[in-house]
Amino acid sequence: MTPGQPEHPDTDRLSPATRVVALGREEAAPGQQVGAPLVLSSTYHAGGDVMYARSGNPTWSAFEQALGNLEGGDALVLASGMAAVSAALSLLPHGGTVVAPDAAYNGVVATLEAREAEGAATVRRVDVTDTAAVIAALDGADLLWLESPTNPLLEVADLPRLLGAAHDQGVLSVVDNTFATPLLQRPLEHGADVVVHSVTKYLAGHSDVLLGAVVTASTPAGRALHERVVTHRTLHGAIAGPMEVWLALRGLRTLHLRVERAQASARELATRLASHRAVTRVRHPGWGGIVSIEVAGGADAAQRLCESTHLWVYSTSLGGVESQLERRRRIPSEPPQVPENLVRLSVGIEDVDDLWNDLSQALDRA
Ligand SMILES: *Cc1c(COP(=O)(O)O)cnc(C)c1O
Repeated sequence: MTPGQPEHPDTDRLSPATRVVALGREEAAPGQQVGAPLVLSSTYHAGGDVMYARSGNPTWSAFEQALGNLEGGDALVLASGMAAVSAALSLLPHGGTVVAPDAAYNGVVATLEAREAEGAATVRRVDVTDTAAVIAALDGADLLWLESPTNPLLEVADLPRLLGAAHDQGVLSVVDNTFATPLLQRPLEHGADVVVHSVTKYLAGHSDVLLGAVVTASTPAGRALHERVVTHRTLHGAIAGPMEVWLALRGLRTLHLRVERAQASARELATRLASHRAVTRVRHPGWGGIVSIEVAGGADAAQRLCESTHLWVYSTSLGGVESQLERRRRIPSEPPQVPENLVRLSVGIEDVDDLWNDLSQALDRA
C-alpha cells in the first residue's frame, strides 16, 4: 500500500475484474484527475517520502498498488521482464543451487547457463511436469524457479504441491506468472515467495512497452525479500520510465476483457486446429490464450506458415491485443527441447472466425 493511494474499503470483496479498473488511482476530490498521474520528475522537493526518482515515482506506485493487489503481495515495477528476472535471481546466494525447468523462457535459460559457466550457481534442470522429480531435486537447493505454463511448450507444473514442498524444505520459490496473469493463477496463494512478470506481455497488453515486475508475499519473510529487491532496483539503476508504466496501467484496465476473449478464442482455435491435416500436435492446457502447434512438413512448413498469414502478426512476443505467431526455433538460443516445427500462437482479441480463416489458409499453403 502506497501513501496517497487509498484502497476501496472493501477491495478484497471486489472481483479481480473490478479491481483492475478501480485500483491505482488517486483519492477522489473535486477537480482531481480520474486516472493515475504521469509524473515526469527526476527529483522531488525535499521533506517528502521519496527524494529522488531512482527510488520512487507516483506513477510506479499506482501500477504497483494495482498489480500487488491482484497477485496478493507487494509489487515492484522494473524496466523489463528480464530486469525482473535478474532482480529475483539476485536473491540467490553466490554459488547457490537453483532447481529450474529444462525448457523455459530462453532469457531465463541463458541467464542460468551464464551463471553456471562463471561458477556463480549450480543448476539442476527438471521436467516441471514430473512433480516427484522436482521435489527430489529440492534437497539442499536454495531456489526453485518455476514457469507455468512454460514458454513455449505450455507444460503445467503442480504449483500447490511444488511450492508447498519448497516451503517445507526452506527453498525460496519464484514463479514466472507471465503466461497466466493474476486473473488465471495467483502463485503467492499457493505459497510462492516471489512472482515475476514480463509486464510487456498481457499486463500491458498492447505491444508498445517493455516492462517487468517482481511481486513478493505479504509475510514478514516476503517483506524482507521486498526490501532486498527495492535495494537491487535502486542500486542497479535500470529503472522503468514513468511513461511506460503509465501506459501499462492504462493497458491493465482491460486485462480481464482481453484475457477472457483470448482464452475463449484460444480454446476454439485449439479445437479447430486439432482436426486440421497440416497440424500434427496441438498444445493448450485448456486455459490461457497461448496455443503451440506442431506443423506437418517440419521446420520449413512451420516457417512458411508464419510467413503466409495476413492478420496474424509474424513477430516474437505475446499477450498483445493483436494475434501473433512465431516459429520459436528460428531463435538460436531457444532450448533444444522445443521442436523445430513448433509454432507458438498468441491469440489476440480479434474475431475468432477471422483468425481461423487466416490461419487455415496459411496452414493450407504451408
Ligand atoms: C517475455 C518473457 C520474459 C522476458 O520479458 P521481457 O519483458 O521481454 O524482458 C520472461 N518470462 C517470460 C515467460 C516471457 O514470456
